[in-house]
Amino acid sequence: MLQHTLAGPAVFAGVGVHSGRHVRVAIRPAPAGHGIVFVRGDLPGENRIPISADAVVRTQLNTEIGAGGVTVSTVEHLLAALSALSVDNAVIELDGPELPIMDGSAAPFIKLIDQAGRRTLDAPRRYIEILETIEVVHGDKRAALSPNVSARPGLEVDFEIAFASRAIGRQRITLRVDESSFRRELASARTFGFVHEVEALRARGLAQAGGLENAVVVDGDRVLNPEGLRFPDEFVRHKALDAVGDLYILGAPVSGRFEGRYAGHAMNNALVRELVARPDAWRERIFAADLAQAV
Ligand SMILES: [Zn+2]
Repeated sequence: MLQHTLAGPAVFAGVGVHSGRHVRVAIRPAPAGHGIVFVRGDLPGENRIPISADAVVRTQLNTEIGAGGVTVSTVEHLLAALSALSVDNAVIELDGPELPIMDGSAAPFIKLIDQAGRRTLDAPRRYIEILETIEVVHGDKRAALSPNVSARPGLEVDFEIAFASRAIGRQRITLRVDESSFRRELASARTFGFVHEVEALRARGLAQAGGLENAVVVDGDRVLNPEGLRFPDEFVRHKALDAVGDLYILGAPVSGRFEGRYAGHAMNNALVRELVARPDAWRERIFAADLAQAV
């Protein structure tokens, strides 16, 4: 597999779910080896934030990255879309502190990247191939990466959640994440929240723009959205989408099996930091079979 970037810019705008701020975004093409870099165009100076496990500065409710005191939050759904569409290199300029939430899923980002088009670059993708199992455990929460069961390169995801609300209950999804499965199974799964939490968050200045148009909102055992769910198990599908985005913060595609149980952004980031700290557990790898296909 060769590296990709966009064929042209993808320009869009929307509201940050926590800040309530209207933000304009331009995703621009970048050369091979450049990686994914966020740039805050509204502040003086360069304000470049290259993605990396260490760039993550906060994981409460969403994933926020930063460098030199400048931050960008809610990056995970866009990163999931870039990961699934094998976009390795891009400059993401925005004029505010938070990416637009759009409809709470990754589907609008997929559509924008499709409209911009993709360009193949003359350099191989460098995968992070998992060689040994690493895991982080916190109470009953667990996140782990282990070698793929099959010889095929790529990411496998196995995610399980359990909530007392009968609207959610226990849900589990196991799938191989590639472009087509992501588009079909994960991309349109929306983020979700509970009414009582939304009220508490608003009181703390968060979730200012959170509502039925950008999240599945659960009240007790009921889903409040009049249109209902996009999948019966939309909740766990969204958690798998989040994991895909949170893993891509590594700046390279992972070839391995991700397992998440009751995990969220904090556990996902603890896991990628553990991976970086354990160079014996993985190696950088180019997949020759994929290369032959792509050429
Ligand atoms: Zn999410």
